[in-house]
Amino acid sequence: MSGRLVILGSKGGPAIRPGGPSPTSSLIEIGGRRIVIDCGLGVARGLVEAGLALSELDLILITHLHSDHVLELGPLLHTAWTAGLKRPVRVFGPVGTKAVWDGFCASLSYDIALRIDDEGRPDIRALVTVAEFGEGVLLEEGGLTIEALRVEHPPVTECYALRLTQDGRVIVFSSDTAYFPPLAEFARDADILVHEAMHPDGVDRLVERTGNGARLKAHLLASHTMAADAGRIARDAGVAHLVLHHLVPADDPAIAEIHWTEQVRTSWDGALTIGRDGLDLPLPGSKHQRKTA
Ligand SMILES: [Zn+2]
Ligand SMILES: [Zn+2]
Repeated sequence: MSGRLVILGSKGGPAIRPGGPSPTSSLIEIGGRRIVIDCGLGVARGLVEAGLALSELDLILITHLHSDHVLELGPLLHTAWTAGLKRPVRVFGPVGTKAVWDGFCASLSYDIALRIDDEGRPDIRALVTVAEFGEGVLLEEGGLTIEALRVEHPPVTECYALRLTQDGRVIVFSSDTAYFPPLAEFARDADILVHEAMHPDGVDRLVERTGNGARLKAHLLASHTMAADAGRIARDAGVAHLVLHHLVPADDPAIAEIHWTEQVRTSWDGALTIGRDGLDLPLPGSKHQRKTA
């Protein structure tokens, strides 16, 4: 059974720059499901560029409520609605996700009422359901299992890594986290681990560039993972493939793919891909298929 992982937006943090990458979002197509993971700015455009009809949206997972992961949740759903969405869409997110969605609908109430009356659309508020989750299994249906692990992303306490299993295939997303050894157990034997990463030289250059240098650096070090440590998690978990995601910095021309690779290779010698917007990776066949191939 085929499937793919598409990195729609590969950068960490909410800023966008000319010609640069977008904040965090991803798409997993597996077992006939279309699963969007995080909704940073640019997610709707990224999905369309990846060839997905927005009216086919199915499942949306939000790892935490930092804006670089949730800013475009409402606009994505609204754009899908105006593109002809008629099927129910489920959103899973941590506590507070429902308030984000309800607030968006309130802010767009004029347009929503207009389109229901004028264009005869179904009520978007009835099409979308939001379920708030904590640690553990958040969904189990049709052979798809999604589990959540609380990770270390201070000061955010509701921040979750996600493990998706379908047909024996496992894809794990770290979400935003400091180096967090329990993640290795959570990602045990995954086919793909999508892990956030910072580059040490890039972080120094980034804090020089921005106004609030010392505070920004303290925040980054306390709540995110250096690329070499992402490699340690991949190694300790025994994953088949590490994909770096949520890159900080993602838009510094002095920090190129080779510089990320150099960092990761200090700890990880397995399959490695450095994320970029539009990266489209086929998923491996199911475990059963691989054994018999
Ligand atoms: Zn982030
Ligand atoms: Zn975050």
